Amino acid sequence: MSAIRRRGLMLVLSSPSGAGKTTLSRRLLEADTGILMSISATTRPKRPNEVEGRDYLFVSTERFAEMMHHNEFLEHADVFDHRYGTPAAPVKQAIAQGRDVLFDIDWQGTQQLKERAREDLVSVFLLPPSHEELERRLKARAQDSDDVVSRRMAKAASEISHWPEYDYVVVNDDVDRAHAKILAILEAERARRTRLVGVGEFVAQLTR
Ligand code: 5GP
Repeated sequence: MSAIRRRGLMLVLSSPSGAGKTTLSRRLLEADTGILMSISATTRPKRPNEVEGRDYLFVSTERFAEMMHHNEFLEHADVFDHRYGTPAAPVKQAIAQGRDVLFDIDWQGTQQLKERAREDLVSVFLLPPSHEELERRLKARAQDSDDVVSRRMAKAASEISHWPEYDYVVVNDDVDRAHAKILAILEAERARRTRLVGVGEFVAQLTR
């Protein structure tokens, strides 16, 4: 084992809903890469399939405001009708220990991380393969009226407009292929010179 260590990185996965982000995040967490998921706090009510502390920390509006006031968030944003924020402490601890952290946050949060932690950030924007497929996935998600689906399409279009702000773009035309691409991005970014600690000493040993 070499003496080279590594600072952890922050891998952000953003996409419009219906692009398969939840599935790909889960695949990445199960792929034994050692990456940890950042659990956001939100004021949104819990959905039936969600678990407190696994999917989100579900908090009241008052508690959220208190956390903001105490500077407990690395980033926070209002998304649709609710507030979302990333608690800073677990992320800072993981990064310092050389662990990588996966974030499922929107473009607003990604911009804030870019301002605060550019060196640690790797951002990936996930796109659906086509307009038709996006519409089909949004329809399949809930038995909504066409009106709701068309509103969701409009929301998706506005989220998609932020793709140029990301380091990488992955089109989710095939979930296995998209997963492999994200794994490849993670591997490459782990080897980035600026993240490595102790290379100078290692090289000095090699050439002494
Ligand atoms: P949902 O309510 O469907 O779980 O998430 C709605 C949107 O909020 C998604 O686009 C998700 O990426 C985003 N989101 C979830 N947690 C956070 C967070 O902590 N910060 C930011 N900026 N966005 C978040």
